[in-house]
Amino acid sequence: MLYPVGMPTPVELDFNPPQPAESARKTDGPPPFESWGRYPAYDAELKHLHWQGDYPRAIDGVHHGALAVGMGRSYGDVCLLKDGTLLQTTTMDRLLDFDPVTGLLTAEAGITLAQILDFAVPRGYFLPVTPGTKYVTLGGAIANDIHGKNHHQAGTFGCHVTQFELVRSDGRRMLCSPTSHPDYFEATIAGMGLTGVIPWAQIRLKPIVSRMIDYQGIQFHGIDEFLDLSSQAAHVEYTVSWVDVTATGKNFCRGIFMQGDHSQAPSPLKLSPKPKLVFPMDLPGFALNRLSVGAFNTLFFHKQMKKRVSALQDYEPFFYPLDAVLKWNRMYGKRGLLQFQYVIPWEHAKEGTVAILFEVAKSGMASFLAVLKAFGDAPSPGMMSFPKPGITLALDFPIRPEKSFALFDRLAEMTREFGGRLYPAKDARMTSTQFQAFYPQWERFARFKDPALTSSFWERVIGGRLGVGGSGR
Ligand SMILES: Cc1cc2nc3c(=O)[nH]c(=O)nc-3n(C[C@H](O)[C@H](O)[C@H](O)COP(=O)(O)OP(=O)(O)OC[C@H]3O[C@@H](n4cnc5c(N)ncnc54)[C@H](O)[C@@H]3O)c2cc1C
Repeated sequence: MLYPVGMPTPVELDFNPPQPAESARKTDGPPPFESWGRYPAYDAELKHLHWQGDYPRAIDGVHHGALAVGMGRSYGDVCLLKDGTLLQTTTMDRLLDFDPVTGLLTAEAGITLAQILDFAVPRGYFLPVTPGTKYVTLGGAIANDIHGKNHHQAGTFGCHVTQFELVRSDGRRMLCSPTSHPDYFEATIAGMGLTGVIPWAQIRLKPIVSRMIDYQGIQFHGIDEFLDLSSQAAHVEYTVSWVDVTATGKNFCRGIFMQGDHSQAPSPLKLSPKPKLVFPMDLPGFALNRLSVGAFNTLFFHKQMKKRVSALQDYEPFFYPLDAVLKWNRMYGKRGLLQFQYVIPWEHAKEGTVAILFEVAKSGMASFLAVLKAFGDAPSPGMMSFPKPGITLALDFPIRPEKSFALFDRLAEMTREFGGRLYPAKDARMTSTQFQAFYPQWERFARFKDPALTSSFWERVIGGRLGVGGSGR
């Protein structure tokens, strides 16, 4: 057994599901592996990794490149490889070690944050950083250096990763941490899966005494009120805003500022119930339009009748409101959705955000998942990490090539003009010129690329299958 470089022998915690015997591991079924936006849709061979020794063995005879993938919760093509080989890691989902005193948890990289929460919450621990869905893998969280509602206090997920192993296609295995192979540590956090395969990682969890969040929702009108609320809430751990991007005139940039802290009043740390609702079918493309989304937004804004409401809320609806309905991306129909997320640094954050919101409202393209947040200034440990101090806005649009692509392209260009950048995990459109302007450090990063690995995103923004980066196998 290869486990693990520099780590104790894995403890088979009771929590772990039984693993299939080697002989029972069936060869891998047909694709399809989709990203969350379901655009673009590419064929690829799908192989499952079961333990860290499977890579590089799994790519023997593979000539069109390979890419490790997790839950496919990235929206665009950062987790896709057209006609290549995808190495799905969700079959590597065991917990390896947990220290109940320090909160240090070591697990295989295909474990999901949902599985970690099921283990950790009843033991009085929570994720240090979580995105808006818990159905992402540990490996995926590291590879995109994800951020959450506590970015202004806690920085990115990578800030809480103490070490991981990196396996390269030449069979080399490296223990990476801030002190061991620190250059590979830095390149792999937000490395978009291109520097090697992460078989396991260790993170530091944070203690909690309750599942509950002390929540406040505050209505705001306009960017200035949003900015005031963000600075008043600097001491609150979690802040995020929903903004009505369909509103114009005096309602322009109205929204709800949501803030919360883990409750300090002890209460039972029960397991979360499993979600029961599944979005039943693909909606027809016309179902989401300016009228339906506009009506939803008005209802959502007025659902909160008062200017300010306070409540004690379970962490599930606070962090993961969308996870209550599985496969909700079907709402966008078979053509899928485009996400667009920028960060614009403080220097131009306000004017850039107003200009972009104005452009969206003017376009008539509807987005009802519009999330606005002020990032903090904690440095991200990843060479290619997306967050930086400023305002971030995430929007999504149903795919209507003639309209949404043109709007996206305009917004991406505006982002560049305001000195911002887009988030690869949420992207399917940025051009190679834009990417290289957003991430001028890409050439340094490319030196750490594993020559056997690539993605459709990388090919789109850099070009050439397996063409750029890394030293030979
Ligand atoms: C509803 C929703 C809300 C979201 N909210 C947020 C948010 O608030 N903040 C945020 O930052 N993101 C957010 N995201 C995006 C999501 O968190 C990231 O895209 C995340 O990386 C997805 O993880 P995954 O397991 O699905 O990985 P995938 O999407 O399958 O892969 C993502 C990347 O990780 C790499 N990778 C995966 N496993 C490994 C491994 N073992 N070794 C090496 N590389 C690997 C892949 O190559 C790929 O480049 C959200 C997504 C959804 C659908």
